[in-house]
Order: sequence, then structure tokens, then C-alpha cells
Amino acid sequence: MKTGNSFQKIAAASLKEYVNGLQESGLEGIPVALFGNISSPPESPNLSAPSPILARQAEKHLESLDRIRKELGDCLRCKLGKTRKNLVFGIGNPHARLVFVGEGPGADEDLAGEPFVGEAGQVLNRIITAMELKREDVYICNVVKCRPPRNRDPEEDEVAACSPFLLRQIQAISPEAVVTLGKYASHTLLGTKEAISRLRGKFRDFHGIPLMPTYHPSYLLHNRGNSDTFWDVWDDMTQVLRLLKLPVPEKSKKK
Ligand code: URA
Repeated sequence: MKTGNSFQKIAAASLKEYVNGLQESGLEGIPVALFGNISSPPESPNLSAPSPILARQAEKHLESLDRIRKELGDCLRCKLGKTRKNLVFGIGNPHARLVFVGEGPGADEDLAGEPFVGEAGQVLNRIITAMELKREDVYICNVVKCRPPRNRDPEEDEVAACSPFLLRQIQAISPEAVVTLGKYASHTLLGTKEAISRLRGKFRDFHGIPLMPTYHPSYLLHNRGNSDTFWDVWDDMTQVLRLLKLPVPEKSKKK
């Protein structure tokens, strides 16, 4: 797995794509800094409450997800475009306070055009439900938007072509927390190769946004017998809930 492509490089590529996009759409000048500091979480515990987020978006003149999707078009920027069935852009609340980032679409996602709809998706749904949230409250996306053949790891050139769009999506959503699911997404967004077992459990900084790395839902599936892994993920999610000032469900707490 190659993850040497740090998000600083990706940010530069993203900025270039963004400026090109602005120029193509006839806009003069750059309306916002790409990476602003996030403000403290609003008082409301409702994850999908749009008003403070919308206000923040209006303040920053952030670009819309629709615009980013439109710019991607029938993307053939890397070789994955030739073999995919559907481009998997991302799904959920465009003003979500929490964004989950996985690795890339698998066969089910490629067919459906939606991230995390297969077996791993069922596990992610259970995590979201355990947090007393709904899939529609959060935003779910991947490092790459097209399925790598035979579910191999995305290659460096594919990540380089696709990640600027992920970065723009995150910036457009302007969430208060990001959760990276598994080693691949964590390594790519954080520009590190540290083991996921060491990365998880602590917030990291991702362009001013607190980022919590955790295990991938597929890893939980493969480690069904090991409840420690499940509780590690739950510990990570309770930290996220606390950061967002959302209630931590008592019933699910580690005994
Ligand atoms: N695994 C991922 O990393 N992403 C998906 O969308 C599905 C499975």
C-alpha cells in the first residue's frame, strides 16, 4: 500500500483544481481561504441542525457539493474510470457535523453508486446507530471514488487524481469532526504510515478539523471473535460524540 502522497501535496493540487473551476465558471478571484479554522461546536445537540453550519458556510462562501460533483463529471482522470460501473461520490447530509471517510468502493458500492452499502456498510450503519445518529445525519465518502479492480488498494496516481475532490468535499461540508475508517484512509489523510493500532484513539489535526482514525468496518467483520476491537472503535466514537457535545449512549458503554 502506498500512502506517501501527503495531503499537503493534495491540498496544493486541490487549490489548483478549485481555482481552475472558479475561472471556468467565470468567477473572478478566490472568495475564501481553502482551510479555515473550525469554530467551536454549536450548543444544539442535533447533528443535522443546519442553521449554524449554513451560517458558517455563508460566511466562508464555501463551494457546494453539487458543484464539485458536476466538475467531476464522467471522470476519467485516472485508470479506475475505465473499469468502474458507477462513480461513488459520497452520501449524506451536505452540512453534516461528522464525516466518515473510507478507502474506496467495493463491488456493491460500484453497482449502487453509493458508499458503504455492502457488508462493511452494514457494520458502519450499526456504529452510526449505536451513536444514536442516522446515516442521513452524517456524510460518508471514500479516498477514491471508483472501485479498484479486485478491490486492490488504490495506487498513488489514483489517489493523487481523486483526493483533491475529497478535500474539497470535506471543505464544502465544513464538518466539526472527521473519522477515517481504517489504515488506508488514515494514512492518506494524515500523510503517515504509523500503524492504525497506534493512530486510533487520539484526535489528530486535519487542516484544523479534529480527525479520529479508527478501525475499518471490514476489520471488525474479520475480527468478529475479538470484542476488544469492537470496544476500541466504540471508545473512538464516544470521543467523537463528546467532541460534538452529543450524548454518549449509556447502554453501549464499555463495562
Ligand atoms: N469499504 C470502503 O472503504 N468503502 C466503501 O464504500 C465500502 C467498503
